[in-house]
Order: sequence, then structure tokens, then C-alpha cells
Amino acid sequence: MTYCTPTTYQTARKEHICTNCCGKILKGETYARWASFDDTGFTNKMHMECLDSFLEDNEGRSFEYTPYCGERPEKKGADKSIES
Ligand SMILES: [Zn+2]
Repeated sequence: MTYCTPTTYQTARKEHICTNCCGKILKGETYARWASFDDTGFTNKMHMECLDSFLEDNEGRSFEYTPYCGERPEKKGADKSIES
């Protein structure tokens, strides 16, 4: 059984790597952070939209995921880039 600390939302003071999609969490961006413990401790850091997609899939309950294997979902309401 994995124990997780409550999720906190922080503003990045430096760049981080998202533990879901491996993408950069840019300085100044808000990101979700929590720690999980099973055999070892692990600090999760995720883009808001990465976390949101998990919460949506799991109806807001806690979830497990494989770190660094996910894809970054599109930001809601973000303009799709137009290929030119
Ligand atoms: Zn991400």
C-alpha cells in the first residue's frame, strides 16, 4: 500500500521535470507536488493538467501511475497551434 501526502500546489521557483510526462515545469508555473512512500520515498511533481487528467480518470480518488511514462494532456482552453 502506498501512502501519499496531501497534494500541494506551488509556484515553481526553478524549473522542474514533470514526473508524469517528463516535460519541463517552467519557473513561475503552478504545479502539483506530493510525496508518496512505499518501499522508498518519491516526490511527485506534475503539471496541473497532468494531475487533472488522472483525477478525472479516477473520479478524484487517489491513483497510481508509472512515473515518466505519461503524456502531457492539452491544456483546457488552450489554442491549438496551427501548422503553417
Ligand atoms: Zn506533465
